[in-house]
Amino acid sequence: MVKFGADPFANSVKQVHDACDILGIKDEGVRNYLTMPNKMMRVKIPVKMDNGKLRIFTGFRSQHNNDRGPYKGGIRYFDPEGGVEYMEREVMALSSWMTWKCALAGVPFGGGKGAIYINPKKENLSKNEMSRLTRRFAFMISEIIGPQKDIPAPDVYTTGLEMTQIMDTYGKLNGVTHQPAVITGKPIPMGGSLARNVATGLGTAYCVREAAQILDMPLRDAKVVLQGFGNASTFAGEYLEKMGCVIIGASDSKGDILKPSGMKMKDLQKWKAKKGTVVGFPGSTKVSTEKLLTAKCDILIPAALENQINAAIAKKIQCKIIGESANGPTLPEADPILYKKGIIVIPDILANSGGVTISYYEWVQNNTGQYWGFVEVAKLMENHLVTGFKDAYELAQNKKVDMRRACMAIAVKRVVEAFELRGVWP
Ligand code: NAD
Repeated sequence: MVKFGADPFANSVKQVHDACDILGIKDEGVRNYLTMPNKMMRVKIPVKMDNGKLRIFTGFRSQHNNDRGPYKGGIRYFDPEGGVEYMEREVMALSSWMTWKCALAGVPFGGGKGAIYINPKKENLSKNEMSRLTRRFAFMISEIIGPQKDIPAPDVYTTGLEMTQIMDTYGKLNGVTHQPAVITGKPIPMGGSLARNVATGLGTAYCVREAAQILDMPLRDAKVVLQGFGNASTFAGEYLEKMGCVIIGASDSKGDILKPSGMKMKDLQKWKAKKGTVVGFPGSTKVSTEKLLTAKCDILIPAALENQINAAIAKKIQCKIIGESANGPTLPEADPILYKKGIIVIPDILANSGGVTISYYEWVQNNTGQYWGFVEVAKLMENHLVTGFKDAYELAQNKKVDMRRACMAIAVKRVVEAFELRGVWP
């Protein structure tokens, strides 16, 4: 993995300023309003461990903007190299990206993000310890979340189980037996939506398909490299494979592999399930992260963590399309290099917006009590993403800017419209 160090919040601030430049927004007050989160909550989470000892964890919930609707964004359990202070900045940035993602996707939500500084894969906490940690965190943030206030969702190393525990804790604290609309990404029996589990990867695949059409690049036998092998990347891989692509590279926290002759997703998944990593997959070669990202391929899907593609890597990247399934995988210094090389970068706020779009439809189903089928929900999501892609591509061509700037400009414009309609109170 590329070393941490870059400040993701500073990157998110720069992206907002870039969008303001395109839109001709000069007012410093408005610019500051758009960059800073409305609220940042840092909480102490005391947990009684199985051995009877007390352990204190740190958690965050950042609420960036709610001019267009309730805050929306995932909760991740992770331990970035930069430590707790880095994580605070990371969560602020991620909440800002959620604001722009929801605006671009055209779903009536603002941006939020949460996290606990813990790596459940490394720490081996018991199920009961994890449950106590999640429920205590839910209690700590319960005053600021709610179906019309702030609706969390899963993210790195959190699943439908944690979402159910947060929903259940929230319901108990608020004297309601069932309040599914407080959180999305729930399992189906808890009011989850069909297609939510595949949404992020499927949305990335739809965007890649649109970009390939523009480049007149057939997807049949197009070579794909996946970075990460979790929810976002496996479904991106599966759907791209269904569209005719061949997966030639993959990675996870244990390492990176390449097999230029191709690997079937189903076999890779079986291997990962058996061995706990993609590393060692028969016929593959273990490579460095840099080698993986710069391998000769047509489509690169960064789907692990932020700050992966820096200027040095961008110079060596050989693909034609980058579909950012992860949040913030590309550093601002890399964008102009990739643009000059003619690579279509589908930015995170578009490429991974399938997740939040289906989360929106999960919330709608929870609020109305009417539930839809997989195809219906996936089609609704496809419309949002294809429209977003086409709007952004057109603006990018007109303004001669990259797709990230175009997407940000569309999103910032929508939030500014809502902000101006509301006005500042008091
Ligand atoms: P996940 O927990 O399912 O998977 C994360 C993957 O990253 C795992 O395969 C893990 O092994 C890998 N990883 C961790 N450290 C790594 C390292 N050092 N090198 C290579 N791989 C490493 O998480 P996810 O939900 O797939 O999220 C991945 C990215 O996608 C994140 O940036 C997340 O914010 C973004 N995202 C996810 C969703 C969603 O709905 N799941 C939605 C929008 C954005």
